[in-house]
Amino acid sequence: MKEFQYIYPKNSQSVPLILGEYNGKALLYAGGTDALARMKEGINRPEQVVNLKAVEELNYIKEDSDGLNIGATTPLVDIVNSKVAQTYGGLSRAVETVATIQLRNMGTLGGNLCQRPRCWYFRSRHFHCIRKGGDVCFAVSGNNKYHAILGGSSCYIVYPSDVAPMLITLQASVEILGPKGSRMVPLEDFYILPKVDPTRENILQPDEIVTRVFVPKSAKQVKSIYLKFRERDSFDFAMVSVAVSAKVSGNKLSDLKIAMGGVAPVPWRAKKAKMVLNGNTVSDELLKKAGEAELENAEPLEQNEYKITLTKNLLKRAVGELLAL
Ligand SMILES: Cc1cc2nc3c(=O)[nH]c(=O)nc-3n(C[C@H](O)[C@H](O)[C@H](O)COP(=O)(O)OP(=O)(O)OC[C@H]3O[C@@H](n4cnc5c(N)ncnc54)[C@H](O)[C@@H]3O)c2cc1C
Repeated sequence: MKEFQYIYPKNSQSVPLILGEYNGKALLYAGGTDALARMKEGINRPEQVVNLKAVEELNYIKEDSDGLNIGATTPLVDIVNSKVAQTYGGLSRAVETVATIQLRNMGTLGGNLCQRPRCWYFRSRHFHCIRKGGDVCFAVSGNNKYHAILGGSSCYIVYPSDVAPMLITLQASVEILGPKGSRMVPLEDFYILPKVDPTRENILQPDEIVTRVFVPKSAKQVKSIYLKFRERDSFDFAMVSVAVSAKVSGNKLSDLKIAMGGVAPVPWRAKKAKMVLNGNTVSDELLKKAGEAELENAEPLEQNEYKITLTKNLLKRAVGELLAL
């Protein structure tokens, strides 16, 4: 591993200034469950590692009259165990599907939302892929079993967070802090597709950090659920996942939101499926139509066509379980 400087800032305000000084050559480090692995593999060779652990002010879960506020360095396990977070629909349950108890102890919410893709070409120092500034996505003609079927274009990673799809359906926003102050951005608009920039997954500039996640109180007035299909049951990333939130009246869904993991380079808003289902009485026939509408433009690679059927079935199951909640 290349030598690096190490710093423990004590407050969040100083972090963008430190990052700015290193102009893209610093690496933020929260729980380190992703960042350290990338450093060890030589994927990231930072000059400066900025450890957020001493920034106590970013570790909290607080509810106010508008909703739930969770600081970026809050460990995932605290969200799972928080009585107040448990009242925000499927949030705690979605967080509980992340990795293992040990990783949820170390891993933070900010780190989960900003983690980098798990694509094996991206993670190998032997492949200078387009996401690392090269010209090629090696998955296109390589081993692409776990890659994207939607939104791929120049790069076919899938966004790995289990928490992001659930938060998006609950209409969460993230607070971003930069040298000039902070701004709130809907989490849905935080992530970017490869056609915008194939080298990054979100809108953060090199001198910006996520400081807070806000979930509005409206999340308590809907039903919500997160289903994750993984190859290995003990712990694994999602092959496909589906988060759904809606108001439920009998077999009718309204105010429906669906976001999917494991299918696209961003948490995928299933807007076509929503159009079919929202406001209508759910039936097997309608669920079939919704899945077909959402996947009609899917572009599977050689080894991942199975994701089309898997996604349709998981959507069906998620809506069925939501109705039964
Ligand atoms: C074996 C294994 C299994 C896993 N399984 C899952 C899984 O099933 N589901 C899942 O969702 N994830 C999974 N993860 C991925 C991930 O490590 C965890 O989700 C964890 O939450 C990441 O948090 P962290 O604090 O450790 O992040 P770090 O490793 O510290 O950081 C991750 C990235 O985010 C950046 N970052 C950290 N905090 C901030 C911030 N506040 N603002 C801006 N950027 C920031 C860092 O610079 C880094 O690039 C797994 C990881 C491993 C090693």
